[in-house]
Amino acid sequence: MNRIEKIYFASSNSHKKAEMQRLIMDGVTITLPCEEGLSFDPDENGSSFIENSLIKARALYDIVRAPVLADDSGLVVDALGGRPGIHTARYGCTDERKLTSREQYMMLLDEMKGRTDRTARFVSACTLMLSADRIYIVQETVEGSIALQPAGLHGFGYDPVFIVEDTGLTASQLSDEEKDRYSHRGKAVRKLNSLLASL
Ligand code: IMP
Repeated sequence: MNRIEKIYFASSNSHKKAEMQRLIMDGVTITLPCEEGLSFDPDENGSSFIENSLIKARALYDIVRAPVLADDSGLVVDALGGRPGIHTARYGCTDERKLTSREQYMMLLDEMKGRTDRTARFVSACTLMLSADRIYIVQETVEGSIALQPAGLHGFGYDPVFIVEDTGLTASQLSDEEKDRYSHRGKAVRKLNSLLASL
């Protein structure tokens, strides 16, 4: 197989794209469908991160017929029975009103008020789809806990309220390089890189 130089990323999230570009093996360019004028908004109606990741990868592959990467991720909070989980992106949102990331993590802090059991993890299910029948899926996690208040300026989404266990700091207080070292997505993509390197 020829060396892969371009991979379409099944997302419209520019923050996730930036992380993917940092994480993917050297020589590969990550491209969002919207950057090529392609409309992409699949119905993520699976019941797990892996199902939703595969739904996104297949939907984009059907459009571009070229190598595709998908990431379905979210925050699993033990005290909330695993919520928001696969619904993390839509947490607190209604059809009428979408919340900003800050509104979402402040709502999470509110829901966690008074809880002492604050353990949580970020999950990332990454799917690399090379052809209709060549599909690799890796699901990884980073363990941590929900902070009492937001802290830090880096990252995106729920990073300001997620304390990365091995650092004692929120993901927003870490540099990009530090976050990549510990993150759910970093761990998953490094495994896919080994796979890409072996093709
Ligand atoms: P998805 O794009 O449909 O997979 O939704 C992922 C949700 O989890 C979004 O709300 C993201 O903000 C959140 N999320 C995923 N990974 C991270 C991360 O590394 N930091 C902060 N929030 C994240």
